[in-house]
Amino acid sequence: MPFGNTHNKFKLNYKPEEEYPDLSKHNNHMAKALTFDIYKKLRDKETPSGFTLDDVIQTGVDNPGHPFIMTVGCVAGDEESYVVFKDLFDPIIQDRHGGYKPTDKHKTDLNHENLKVGCPQGRGPGGQRGEEERGSRPQLVLQGGDDLDPHYVISSRVRTGRSIKGYTLPPHCSRGERRAVEKLSVEALNSLTGEFKGKYYPLKSMTEQEQQQLIDDHFLFDKPVSPLLLASGMARDWPDARGIWHNDNKSFLVWVNEEDHLRVISMEKGGNMKEVFRRFCVGLQKIEEIFKKAGHPFMWNEHLGYVLTCPSNLGTGLRGGVHVKLAHLSKHPKFEEILTRLRLQKRGTGGVDTAAVGSVFDVSNADRLGSSEVEQVQLVVDGVKLMVEMEKKLEKGQSIDDMIPAQK
Ligand code: ADP
Ligand code: MG
Repeated sequence: MPFGNTHNKFKLNYKPEEEYPDLSKHNNHMAKALTFDIYKKLRDKETPSGFTLDDVIQTGVDNPGHPFIMTVGCVAGDEESYVVFKDLFDPIIQDRHGGYKPTDKHKTDLNHENLKVGCPQGRGPGGQRGEEERGSRPQLVLQGGDDLDPHYVISSRVRTGRSIKGYTLPPHCSRGERRAVEKLSVEALNSLTGEFKGKYYPLKSMTEQEQQQLIDDHFLFDKPVSPLLLASGMARDWPDARGIWHNDNKSFLVWVNEEDHLRVISMEKGGNMKEVFRRFCVGLQKIEEIFKKAGHPFMWNEHLGYVLTCPSNLGTGLRGGVHVKLAHLSKHPKFEEILTRLRLQKRGTGGVDTAAVGSVFDVSNADRLGSSEVEQVQLVVDGVKLMVEMEKKLEKGQSIDDMIPAQK
């Protein structure tokens, strides 16, 4: 498996047809979008930092498909990649993000108070009665607090990525740049206080057991074993300048220099997505403020939202999800369709490269671009709540035919 990228200027001594990759057995968004004409047009272009079309597509050439998800098959090496290789990225983005057009504008909403956590028909389990919601669902009564049934929802988590302007992205960054990103990040994060006060743990100074324990407890990224990660060049120099920063009770965590410069995560056991999202929004905005003040804003634009390494994460970069026990529903013939209709996706609980085994699934939002953070987490909260209700019905041997949702 290649471990780096493919800079090679001699390739221009060959004709485009001699260089064009064989994508005939491929099933990823890049392979669908990369016509010979696009390849021919873009193959001798490079971004100011030197990222080329072949670097963009290498991961998708080496990984024709993925057993569990439809992959994107390409990465950005820097902020400018999305501009210089627009002819390729635009159709990929459109395909991956539900028809999102080159002229569309993304929206951001990190006001956690806009998330509606409620139970139809009055009080929810253990919830307090709140003010009535106006608008489309008048019978919904808001309640604060823990809203997803913890008998089913084992843990809740919201994560996003952030890229620091002026530095190339993990598939392309140099050792010096990566170390500079680490230094900046640790300085910024160490200035957080209160519930966010925490410490940085570089991978290099962890023992094998400490690292494995953090992975097993779902706090830390996996070792660089994924072929997607390896082929994109993101695992070069591992574990140099990689690490995890987290607050004292491990409910707010930041991964440094994995797939993105930063991955910001809020998580806890149980089903209190409202609290998880509150901590996510507040902590994330504090971090953004610190970086801005230090003269290092995050990569962002009106069209793509937050600019990240993988085009699948553009927009909010947000994956809000739960580990949820769905022993019956997961065996129901309409399980996949229900997920699709609710705009949700499932994974195994060991991360993106794991199959779902047994009855516990990682269920999260499918969308990232074109809708806001609040809207995406709202889909997760509402969708998971419905699925837990379905699960309870199925447990009692009852039908869920009248509960199948319409396409959202
Ligand atoms: P990401 O989208 O953050 O890259 P991955 O699928 O790669 O997610 O998983 C990264 C880690 O986060 C894994 O250890 C996974 O088990 C953990 N994780 C993801 N969602 C949850 C959740 N809701 N509760 C607990 N751990 C989670
Ligand atoms: Mg991941």
